[in-house]
Amino acid sequence: LKALVWSGQTEIEVQAVDAPSSSQDWVLVRPEYVGVCGTDLTIVSGAHLRAKPGIVIGHEIVGRTIGASRLPEGTLVFVNPLLDCGACRPCRSGAGHACERLRLLGVDLPGGAAEQVSVPARSIVEIPSHLTALQAALTEPLSVAVRAVRQSHLQVGDYLHVVGAGPIGLLCALVGRAAGAGRVTIAEVAPMRRELAAAAQLEVVDGVTDHAADAVIDATGHPAGARSLLQAVRYGGTAVMVGMHAGLAEVDLRQLIFGENTLRGSRNYTSKDVAAALALLATGQIDYRSIVTAVVTLAEAPEAVRRLRQGTEGKVLISISPPAPASTTDEDSASRKAGPIS
Ligand SMILES: [Zn+2]
Ligand SMILES: [Zn+2]
Repeated sequence: LKALVWSGQTEIEVQAVDAPSSSQDWVLVRPEYVGVCGTDLTIVSGAHLRAKPGIVIGHEIVGRTIGASRLPEGTLVFVNPLLDCGACRPCRSGAGHACERLRLLGVDLPGGAAEQVSVPARSIVEIPSHLTALQAALTEPLSVAVRAVRQSHLQVGDYLHVVGAGPIGLLCALVGRAAGAGRVTIAEVAPMRRELAAAAQLEVVDGVTDHAADAVIDATGHPAGARSLLQAVRYGGTAVMVGMHAGLAEVDLRQLIFGENTLRGSRNYTSKDVAAALALLATGQIDYRSIVTAVVTLAEAPEAVRRLRQGTEGKVLISISPPAPASTTDEDSASRKAGPIS
């Protein structure tokens, strides 16, 4: 079987791998779309703390079940890639998504950028029947955004400010809008990302420094993003950090105290967040075309990953088994987007 493998250093390539096996608790899935994200780029750059060379990447997986399990053969499913230990304190308190020994498909275990992947039976979530695999392909990053917006305690009519218009930042802004925000702004410097945000009818700004936003989300993982949070948030408002930081960053604690602000982290997603993400997709409130700039084959994936590392792509999806011809609505989207969709 073919799979996208990180072979060490900065090399990523399509390799032939052994077919994965199934058991009572692990079922086989044939991935149809797999998203590439920052975590994958961290792996490919050799900077990921846990990934080992030889790993099949891909943790944003939508595909069809192989063989009957609790779902019939061929059911379209989202694969939750989080593998919790079940024993640590977060796990015992029902927060397996923040497990102290969390492992991921595509990082610690073979991922979904492959013709087949073996996944825990409990990790598959049925996708609403009227959604196509492509329409559901963003379920994983969208779940991350749903959690971040939840953590911000955004209320209907509130002003949400998002820092960073990468895929997660864009999705946070779109979730905020769908959740009834009265105003949504997004700060970004990169021209390609500003265009994507504007095409999604978002209000693009250079930054917000007037303590006006009820809720602020940093989706950059950049020290400047962390610094800007407390300049944007209003008195009593909430600032959420979802972009992954390497560690230390500067935050003006006097602003935190004077503003009586709440600074919160947001990590991964719960099954409730996944359900909300699927509902947002099923009701058409979030459209993959708002953030996806390229859909590539497995063979084209190494080149697309290179473009991502250079910052010339938004969100990239790998199409593993080409689905039925695209729907007619794909045409009007072509004018709204920065890059080509195949
Ligand atoms: Zn990801
Ligand atoms: Zn745990």
